Amino acid sequence: MSERNTVIENSLTTLLKDESFLPDLKAQTREQAFKSLVALLSTPNHVHKSYLRVSLENGTIVRIPSFRVQHNDTLGPYKGGIRFHESVNEGEVSNLARLMTLKNALHELPFGGGKGGVIINPREYTVKELHLICKKYVQYFNDILGPDKDIPAPDAGTGEREMDWMMAEYKNIHPGEPYRGSFTGKSIINGGSLGRKQATGKGVYFTFRYMMHNFLKEQERWLQTQDNIFAETALNHLDKKLKVAVQGFGNLGSVAALEAFQCNYLQNEVIAVSDRQVMLYNSDGLDIPALLKFAEENDGDLPSAKEDLSAHDIKAEIRDRDSLLEIDADVLIMAALENQIHKDNMKKIKAPLIVEGANAPITEEADKYLSDQGTLIVPDILANAGGVIVSYLEWIQGRETQFYKEEQIYELLYEKMQNTMDTILPQFFGDPFPLRQNCYIHSVMKLSTVLFRQGKLY
Ligand code: NAD
Repeated sequence: MSERNTVIENSLTTLLKDESFLPDLKAQTREQAFKSLVALLSTPNHVHKSYLRVSLENGTIVRIPSFRVQHNDTLGPYKGGIRFHESVNEGEVSNLARLMTLKNALHELPFGGGKGGVIINPREYTVKELHLICKKYVQYFNDILGPDKDIPAPDAGTGEREMDWMMAEYKNIHPGEPYRGSFTGKSIINGGSLGRKQATGKGVYFTFRYMMHNFLKEQERWLQTQDNIFAETALNHLDKKLKVAVQGFGNLGSVAALEAFQCNYLQNEVIAVSDRQVMLYNSDGLDIPALLKFAEENDGDLPSAKEDLSAHDIKAEIRDRDSLLEIDADVLIMAALENQIHKDNMKKIKAPLIVEGANAPITEEADKYLSDQGTLIVPDILANAGGVIVSYLEWIQGRETQFYKEEQIYELLYEKMQNTMDTILPQFFGDPFPLRQNCYIHSVMKLSTVLFRQGKLY
């Protein structure tokens, strides 16, 4: 994943010069306090490591490296997913934990940032072995986890099944104590929230829709103050449909594509979607509900042969997977993996608006290049917070043992995302910084103010 190590330092350098921010801090004290802030916010509080001892079904005993990084708890208990992946490492987990601290601060969630990782390819283990790995993870990290300490959630390679197992083990170790808030992303029957699965995809699409709404409402200000090529596309939308392309058709991408397909507020046509194997293209728009049905019946995959398409009456051309990034679309929704737009393909990107659903799908170099070209990039920290927002709602519901209806969840989700956008967008107008930097500055401001008010900078 691309390093964004300098973001906190850059944000603090900008804030140091702005004397209206923390005006009580002056001269040398100010310099010292800002140095302390760089140290406090850019390094994790704790990096916990363990080798899980797991007995496999064939009788072998293996030691599996695993981590939990607790980046910062200024705003509340640590919160962030657990990733099961063969290439996960301490650096990646630390970067993701830092992003969680900043994301939770941006969206006013009462959480700090954390992340976990287990170095395995989950496909290589039996269900029984995965169950044991989950139990061991909770046993080894038991002292640092809990509803008021550190609350994990699913990430790549984990889902509601793993969260159910982990919560059950936590409950075993802590009899008689509250346990529902110890993990989020659980199944509904085990105290999970309605709408959690759809939350990130819906949030990603909502962010895009709200940007468009703002463009159209504030078009004169946009055109005067922002030098980006999307402004023109947005205005043209009044006469023509927006062409949307979605990279990735998993949990996030398929929901975002369906939202775009069904949207009543904007006229969209989803002209391309891709997954790990193919890209499907139709200049008149793809039948997203039919593709969803196919994916549900085929292990999540899109049709990859002409026969599959004709058998399901789906009109689309099958094209090379990665060419999706280069097609002539108005909006590109990135919903697959990290580092997809990089120095080798950045010059071929045509879409004037890119929405980051996945974490860090654009490398720093490509981000700078595209932003300089006037491409508007809606960053991950702003667009993909739907999952953690609904995790927060799940945590509240678990504590209260009162559960919301699905529509209530979406209303609360959109309200929270709208509040964040309403804070960020006015700052963005007339401001030299790209949206991403605006978001980071806002998060760092919030964290720094809380640390200052708590007397932690002396
Ligand atoms: P997922 O595993 O359900 O789906 C991933 C999709 O990407 C699949 O359709 C897969 O076939 C496709 N894919 C894999 N490699 C590809 C490639 N090279 N080109 C095109 N498609 C490719 O994962 P998800 O839950 O949809 O999450 C997607 C990304 O968003 C992940 O990076 C995840 O960490 C991030 N994310 C997810 C959530 C969430 O709540 N789901 C929240 C925040 C961030």
